[in-house]
Amino acid sequence: MKKLLMLLLAGCLSGAFSFAQDPKDTEDWSKKPAIITPGCNHNPPSDAIILFRKASDLSNWTSRSGEAKWKTACRKMTVNGTGDILTKEKFGNCQLHVEFRTPSKVNGDGQGRGNSGVYIQSLYEVQVLDSYINETYYNGQAGSVYKQSPPLVNASRKPGKWQVYDIVFHAPKFASDGSVTKPASVTVFHNGVLIQDHFELKGATTYAGIPKYQAHGDMPLLLQDHGNPVSYRNVWIRKL
Ligand code: MG
Repeated sequence: MKKLLMLLLAGCLSGAFSFAQDPKDTEDWSKKPAIITPGCNHNPPSDAIILFRKASDLSNWTSRSGEAKWKTACRKMTVNGTGDILTKEKFGNCQLHVEFRTPSKVNGDGQGRGNSGVYIQSLYEVQVLDSYINETYYNGQAGSVYKQSPPLVNASRKPGKWQVYDIVFHAPKFASDGSVTKPASVTVFHNGVLIQDHFELKGATTYAGIPKYQAHGDMPLLLQDHGNPVSYRNVWIRKL
């Protein structure tokens, strides 16, 4: 009998018998997740803001000099030397889906081959580059956070093939004196493969020198015109 009591006591202490615990105590009914319709084959879910889906519709975009003038055809838009394009709407924390294609006709090498970029908040570049058998500095290849973080792996497809970035971005936070209270972070999947795992950015992207932060609020998304005819399609974003 004494042995049985000891066993029961040991069982209670180890959690094997949890007579006092009601599983309902740990159920969360406080906030029902919104019901949305997910997309198939990279199509946007029902709660996404569609930034580019139809050819010739650049109505969500602008440029540094006014109108966005990238070439549009067959549900894609292509860099044509008219400069970077920016969304008219500004964003903070977000989930972003971008499909891009570097030219099938290989021209140039290193940073000169299929260079463009997804600048989140116009400041933080996830590099777009033809990195299929094309050496460059690792923190400048496709999927790098430019000059800050090389991709975990090179998941690039051949030039001329459509590729996908799925990005989760958390905007930096600033105190009223402009100091950073929380750096920006970015997670990137390239063609479905994790290549940036919650990387904390050191500041805005810079070609030379040390990246620095400057306080800002929501900002447009920017796609870079680096002089190479890179195409984009099916661009959508969800605010987080
Ligand atoms: Mg670039």
